[in-house]
Amino acid sequence: TNLTENSTVEQLIEADKKHFIHPTTVPRTFLEEGPKIIFSEGEGVRVKDIHGKSYIDGVSMLWNVNLGFGQKELADAAHEQLTKLAYCSSFYGYSNELAVRLSEKIASLAPGDLNAVFFTSGGSESNETAFKFARFYWDLKGQSSKKNIISLKRGYHGATISTGSATGIVGFHNFSGSKDSDIIHAMPHLVNAEKGDKNDPDYKHSIRHIIDTKGADQIAAVIMEPIQGAGGVHVPPEGYLQAVKQLCEDNNILFIADEVICGFGRTGKMFGVDNWDVVPDIMCVAKGITSGYAQLGAVLLTQEVRDTLVSYDNILGHGFTYSGHPTACAVGLKTLEFIEKNNVLDNVNKMNRELQKGFDYLVEHHPHVAKTRAVGLLAGFELMQDRDSNTPFAQSIRAARHIVDHSFDNGLILRAADFEEQVNIVAVAPPLIVNKVEIEEMI
Ligand code: PLP
Repeated sequence: TNLTENSTVEQLIEADKKHFIHPTTVPRTFLEEGPKIIFSEGEGVRVKDIHGKSYIDGVSMLWNVNLGFGQKELADAAHEQLTKLAYCSSFYGYSNELAVRLSEKIASLAPGDLNAVFFTSGGSESNETAFKFARFYWDLKGQSSKKNIISLKRGYHGATISTGSATGIVGFHNFSGSKDSDIIHAMPHLVNAEKGDKNDPDYKHSIRHIIDTKGADQIAAVIMEPIQGAGGVHVPPEGYLQAVKQLCEDNNILFIADEVICGFGRTGKMFGVDNWDVVPDIMCVAKGITSGYAQLGAVLLTQEVRDTLVSYDNILGHGFTYSGHPTACAVGLKTLEFIEKNNVLDNVNKMNRELQKGFDYLVEHHPHVAKTRAVGLLAGFELMQDRDSNTPFAQSIRAARHIVDHSFDNGLILRAADFEEQVNIVAVAPPLIVNKVEIEEMI
């Protein structure tokens, strides 16, 4: 194929199959069926495909297009910066005004004294950076045996070797070829065990048990999403985050919050941890920071972690070409300004109530809809064969996929979380600017 402006859709599809390797896609199916959709444009919560068919994006693409599509202010901010100074390096002490302004802005929004910001190009790079910083922090403190990172099963932290290893969804390990062997998984949300109840039947799967058996002197950090996203929108029980933070504090272990999905309003608060008033030592963000309009991530450090790292009197040999990218930072600044100016968090909380009502309606009218949850606009529901007796569907029945495919055919994009056997969860996370009529239409 030699694609030209006048190429047909069929030629585009052939070129796609031949030249474009897609992330997180079944390659064999792709070669047979080609792309499921070729997107062409978007406005608000809606996107169109190349044939002009319209869809409501019920998951903000990859939980990132938080302000929806066609936001002119964001496009203008990018355009202005692209024309003025598209790119410059932040290595070797070079700086730019946009990166400085954005780091100050993020620090002003973040809880506690998370005052210093290291920029990356996305979530995986942010978490990878957090792991390296946590390990290096302990090196600098003369405790270099503290290397292990504890993460949670069902968590998602990225696709690099270390963040893929920290990810607690097995499908993401099959591909990695290698593993970061200093990462240990614990069972999520064991609130009693983490609070110190060693008689809890699940104690042996807890973070506390890992610390008790391995020794706190071997552990650098614990990482978790305040609310697990890709693993199926799992909300922790009340007190869980506080208990883990306390456990970390008591044992000299850094607490890393992966706010890549939760950050910047998704849960109705600026950050996921704000729902439980927990201040992490390190906080990783990406996605919503630019609403997906530019590739940007960041790692926030408390004053103490920052002070320790900057005491290093040599080159901190870590950074990405696009760390502090001025155009990405310009879009980030405009995104945060938009969120504040337009009271986006208020809308999230109002629309949360509409979504909850919608879920109640689904439960009333559809016998297989069970266990709904929605914190802000991070939401989902499970599908069960028999919800009264808590009986899941047989493994061969991919109920969540069925719903997602059926919705897609009818113009609504959703996401299935069915990595675990017999688990059928449908994730719902529309753009934060969604309105009541659009939620009703989704339901
Ligand atoms: N952390 C969480 C919680 C995520 O949901 C994701 C992506 O979905 C990542 C990290 C990885 O981010 P990225 O894909 O930008 O590398």
